[in-house]
Amino acid sequence: MVDSRSRPDSCPGAVGVHQAADGALARVRLPGGTLTPAQVRTLAESARDLGSGEIELTSRGNVQLRAIDDPQEFAHRLSRAGLLPSQTHERVRNILASPLTGRIGGLTDLRGVVDELDRRLCADSALAELPGRTLFTLDDGRGDISPLGGDYGVHAVSETEVAVVLAGRDSGARIAVTDSVTVLLDAARVFLELRDEHWRLSEIPEGMERTLAALTLVPTADPVTAFAEARPPIGWLDQADGDVTLGGGLPFGILDARMAEFLAAIEKPVIVTPWKSLLLCDLDEWSAEQVVRVLAPMGLIFDENSPWLNVSACTGQPGCEKALADVRADAREAVESGELPEVGRRHWSGCERRCGRPRGGVTDFVATATGTGYRVEGP
Ligand code: SF4
Repeated sequence: MVDSRSRPDSCPGAVGVHQAADGALARVRLPGGTLTPAQVRTLAESARDLGSGEIELTSRGNVQLRAIDDPQEFAHRLSRAGLLPSQTHERVRNILASPLTGRIGGLTDLRGVVDELDRRLCADSALAELPGRTLFTLDDGRGDISPLGGDYGVHAVSETEVAVVLAGRDSGARIAVTDSVTVLLDAARVFLELRDEHWRLSEIPEGMERTLAALTLVPTADPVTAFAEARPPIGWLDQADGDVTLGGGLPFGILDARMAEFLAAIEKPVIVTPWKSLLLCDLDEWSAEQVVRVLAPMGLIFDENSPWLNVSACTGQPGCEKALADVRADAREAVESGELPEVGRRHWSGCERRCGRPRGGVTDFVATATGTGYRVEGP
């Protein structure tokens, strides 16, 4: 039997691309989901010049491009844009943070923690050995990120104190927010000692307890357990500083290169959320109105009641060789027919693996082996 730890890490990266049915697939990690306008422009131009013309948003707040015909040139472009700060650590820079942190709501501003965590993660050569499935989560107390199943996380319980979240659960240990990065990286180092054949901390028996013990942390508080089901922030959102953030949804989280070029031209920060939507940040009111006027007709969704916000799909045909159907085309037809119920989330899958299925209550549409339609299950 093959030692699973000796198997190569199959998670795609920006350099270590994955050969999909429709060509090379490159995934670009975006700690905290953040992109500068120049980086959005680089992705747009790369998608148009080198790939399929589309940028896919992922449920980890990253992006991926398909059908890349010159992966080396793509990596050069990413490097020049500051999107590939470390070739050795590119696949482990999976850092989710509350997308609105520091701008709207939350108990504390975690933007500095995102930057520090990424910098110190990349500076430790040993941590390049973490699996590509590793996920760091930084929740500013609103409860949007902690439920997303990370390995090592913090969850703010006040402006200055955070809960230590391990294997997706509040451990009961409390630390100063300023100690967050040190504790998270130490927890990841403990995993490397304990991991044996495992890929995620949650797979290790008593992984949370053993990690706490190794870090000499003790639970001192009742664990936070009541996380609300998070929804993507959509529409007009007033920032604490008087500016505006616009939350925009996209069918299947697919951003085409042309729309991305428009986004880059706004010259404001863009954040990719784990709900495969976008935030356009720090706009004045006049600019925000113009953005809605231009981008809504192009397909960016600013209506939080849009049925598209409840519909997801795996890659399907032609990008996945296992797919029994072009699930996105079929899901699109179902949404546009207006026949779907207006409540509840639905996920279309091209086979039983159900990739990209959201957590929680979902109605599944699974392509059948006969290729004659879909089996509907749940929630
Ligand atoms: S669910 Fe099946 S068809 Fe869809 S992307 Fe995953 S493996 Fe491919």
